[in-house]
Amino acid sequence: MYDSNDNPHLLIYPFNASGHIIPLLDFTHHLLRHGLTITIIISSSNLPLLHPLISSYPSSLHKLLFSDPDPDHHPSPHPLIAKVIATQQMFDPIVRWFQSHPSPPVAIISDFFLGWTNELAAHLGIRRVVFSPAGALGSSIFHMLWRDLPEINALNGDRDESFLLSLPEIPNSPEFPWRQLSPLWRSYKEGEPNFESFRKGVIGNMTAWGIVYNTFEDLEGVYIDHMKKQIGHDRVWAVGPLLPEEDGPVGRGGSSAVPRDRLLMWLDKKPDDSVVYICFGSIERLSEKEMSVLTSALELSNVDFILCVKTSDLKFIPSGFEDRMSGRGLIVKGWAPQLVILRHRAVGSFVTHCGWNSTLEGVAAGVMMLTWPLGADQFANEKLLVDQLGVGKRVCEGRPENVPDSVELTQLLDESLSCDRPERVKIKELSQTGIKAVKEGTSMRDLDMFINQLCEH
Ligand code: UDP
Repeated sequence: MYDSNDNPHLLIYPFNASGHIIPLLDFTHHLLRHGLTITIIISSSNLPLLHPLISSYPSSLHKLLFSDPDPDHHPSPHPLIAKVIATQQMFDPIVRWFQSHPSPPVAIISDFFLGWTNELAAHLGIRRVVFSPAGALGSSIFHMLWRDLPEINALNGDRDESFLLSLPEIPNSPEFPWRQLSPLWRSYKEGEPNFESFRKGVIGNMTAWGIVYNTFEDLEGVYIDHMKKQIGHDRVWAVGPLLPEEDGPVGRGGSSAVPRDRLLMWLDKKPDDSVVYICFGSIERLSEKEMSVLTSALELSNVDFILCVKTSDLKFIPSGFEDRMSGRGLIVKGWAPQLVILRHRAVGSFVTHCGWNSTLEGVAAGVMMLTWPLGADQFANEKLLVDQLGVGKRVCEGRPENVPDSVELTQLLDESLSCDRPERVKIKELSQTGIKAVKEGTSMRDLDMFINQLCEH
């Protein structure tokens, strides 16, 4: 803990997407609790997410506000690449801010998409720490795929979707059919300046001063060690699960589409481990066909459920479904307070797209995971949950052609709540291990080590 005369100043730069900003704000909270001074670079649209932290730490948390950089200035074959490249407009304004600051930051902690901040840090003469919103397995694959892109692409010149790519360099030698590799990576256009710039940034992450992972040793130890070997030093810290003890009044990541009291009253009436929670994260959308299979399986099953549906997808909910399910099912139309739901004793299983935050939140809550990955690093996270940890069961292989069979899905939903499932027993144990890691174990040790090493100079 640092006192006010001796508190190092850090600059934190999240990437503007819920799955990236939420965990980095959670990490910021931990750093503030340790007495550090933080300036966070944040766009005006995300400012409400910062309010709870600002009101708790008014003198040590500062914001560097900017309007969202315009991706239209950087037309790119992939919108996410354009969005990442647009952030480079921040280079000069950050340098000017830094140079005029009476006590500028000693390091920048930035999202792994913002690889260009390596050059920024070098220009400012400070350290750059990568914050990975992906787990250590997902991140190992992400960095390897971008690094070896030309060689791997050459292996599958015809772009055969079923081509099986083996990654023997990574522990447990994962294999993925081509269609399960990140669409971002698959849409790479050689020589396209924005893609090349993005790739350079990802490769640059590996030369940063250190990397912070929102994971814990008992969950991903082998992949944390692998990353240490890859980057050639030990400054890789696993500090998760980085979850707040309570979801504050504003709501984590967004305000709840359903009044919290109503939701809790509904859950309070249900027996322990009797509710299935279904949510596909902040970005992924279900197709009409996928939604139709899911809703008919829910209708055929005997489970109580909370189904989180983005407002744009409400049109896919079959007519009369909500009325027919009344009492048994609750539909959250928009943002769900996911942590509050997962942590309720009545929730027993989680149909998830396996985004890393959802994966970690499900593990920490000790709910049985029913996996339905759709893209990004989600297939890797599914492998970890199902094949390696044995705490989840596959529900659907994801897009494009694999829509689950509604009868099979019904059976999986019903079975997921039975108390003697081995996955349930294992995930309850893993949840306890995760809680211990943060309170008194490896993640607490890594957080302390990170802060000490960062502030040594
Ligand atoms: N989330 C939430 N309510 C929602 C949808 C998402 O609270 O209705 C949160 C979820 O708890 C997680 C994050 O948004 O912290 C989503 O991150 P994840 O990595 O799981 O998936 P992504 O959205 O990046 O695909």
